[in-house]
Parts: sequence; C-alpha cells; structure tokens
Amino acid sequence: MGLNLNVNIDKASGFCFGVVYAIDMAEDILDREPYLYCLGDIVHNDEEVLRLKQKGLRIIDHSELANLKNEKVLIRAHGEAPSTYELALNNNLTLIDASCPVVLKLQNRIKGSYDDQEQILIFGKHGHAEVIGLQGQTDGQAIVFQDIAELDELELPSKFTLYSQTTKSVDKFYAIKEELISRGYEVKANDTICRQVSNRYEELERFVENYEKIVFVSGKKSSNGKVLYDVCKKYNPNAYFISKVEELNPAWFSANDRVGICGATSTPMWLMEDVKAVLEAY
Ligand code: SF4
Repeated sequence: MGLNLNVNIDKASGFCFGVVYAIDMAEDILDREPYLYCLGDIVHNDEEVLRLKQKGLRIIDHSELANLKNEKVLIRAHGEAPSTYELALNNNLTLIDASCPVVLKLQNRIKGSYDDQEQILIFGKHGHAEVIGLQGQTDGQAIVFQDIAELDELELPSKFTLYSQTTKSVDKFYAIKEELISRGYEVKANDTICRQVSNRYEELERFVENYEKIVFVSGKKSSNGKVLYDVCKKYNPNAYFISKVEELNPAWFSANDRVGICGATSTPMWLMEDVKAVLEAY
C-alpha cells in the first residue's frame, strides 16, 4: 500500500529575480549560439547547472578566464571585482553582464565609501564570489568577517562603515551591529541584505507550520539555502534537506503525512516539481 502523501510546493520558493535574469540571458544566447562561457556556477544548484551545460553553457573559473581570448563570457548574478573587467578588456572578451542590480548597487555603495576613505567592514562569507566582488571595490582593503569572533583577533579602527553580503541573516547583522556599538566603536551600519531572501523568512515560517514533514530542496553551496533551511528547521523540526530527488528517503514519511516542499532562491521550480512527483508515487 502507498503512503498516500499530501504534497504541496511553496509558491514563494524558487529563483529570485537576480537568478531568473541571469538564466534568461544565458538561455537567450544559447537558443542562437552553440555555446556560452560563464564565469563560475551560474546558480548554486548543480541540477540547474547540469541542465544549462547540456544546452551549451561552459562554466569556467578565473584561471581559465585568464587564458581565454576573443570570446563571449557571462557574468552571473553575484557580480565581479573590477579586476575581472580589466582582464576582459585585455583579452578582448565580450562580457554579458548579468550581475544582479541589487549586488551592483551594493558594489557602488562600497566603492563610494572607499572613495570617501571610510574604513569598511563586510559581514560575509570568506571566498564567496559576491564577497570577492565587493572587496574588489576597495582594492582588497575592506575587512571581511563571517563571525564576530574573527574581529577579536584584529585591531579595528575606532570608526568604520559596516556592510553585509546580500544573503546574510538580518537578525545576525543587527546583532553584530549592536555588539560592535556596545564595544565602543562608532559604526555606520548599512543593512544591505536582499529582501528577496530576508522576506522569505516569514513566508517560510508560515508555510512550514502547516505540514507534518518538510522537504527543503537546495544546492549544498547555496548560502541562502543554508539560512532558509535553518528557518525551516526552527519552525518545523521534521525538515529534511536534499539537493536532488535521489536523496529522498521514504522512511522519513508516515502514511497520509502532509508534506511541504520549499527551497532556496537558487532552487529551480522544475526540481521541486520532480520531488513532488516522487513523493506522490510513494
Ligand atoms: S538573492 Fe537578491 S541580491 Fe542575490 S541574486 Fe537574488 S535578487 Fe539578487
């Protein structure tokens, strides 16, 4: 006898507009041309990357970019540091710039602060492409930290401007701001967190409370996937993280369970629909 699961997908889950924009741009070109280079994973979702690779997308890293000449290269939503644009100019590369407008605006603000000789701190993940692009606006001068404990090791200026990577948690950002102020620093804090991610918290809270079980679908490399999964877990402890349908396990479910499927801003809707079909067949 089947499990007879009652499965629903969260309508607010799926790509944010920055990712939609980049993928649309890539597909538009791939409809006309046999291949397109893309600097880094176009989206932090292996399944979607595989789908686009099959259409001709060629993912390259920065060292491969340095050896590429006279080609067309897509810049993904995370944006890039100025050095990438210089390299493209030197190598006669045509950049198709799909940097998300939210990230571009943040890059400009950080550049403005740097030009005004402010000391800059960025709350963000070390080595993350967006953060590298942000730090690049300051010639590498901005201090990047992902945990306030890292700042204990450093001698900070008495006054600085604080920014955040777009996908960080709003709560953590404000907690850090308050902590730094309480330590006596003069902090000019700019909440530059993308609302496409942070608005999802409340929507997700409400969504996950309606189900016995939650299946959260996201690539393992997605920063906002991790943050949003933590939100799911907090409001529904029976939440499972998967990256692909093969990771589903029937043992997680009981007969007649109501199951909610949700995902990150980098999770394609088609993948959540595939998950739904598998669950309904149990
Ligand atoms: S999460 Fe926000 S900043 Fe990041 S790509 Fe999507 S819309 Fe742009």
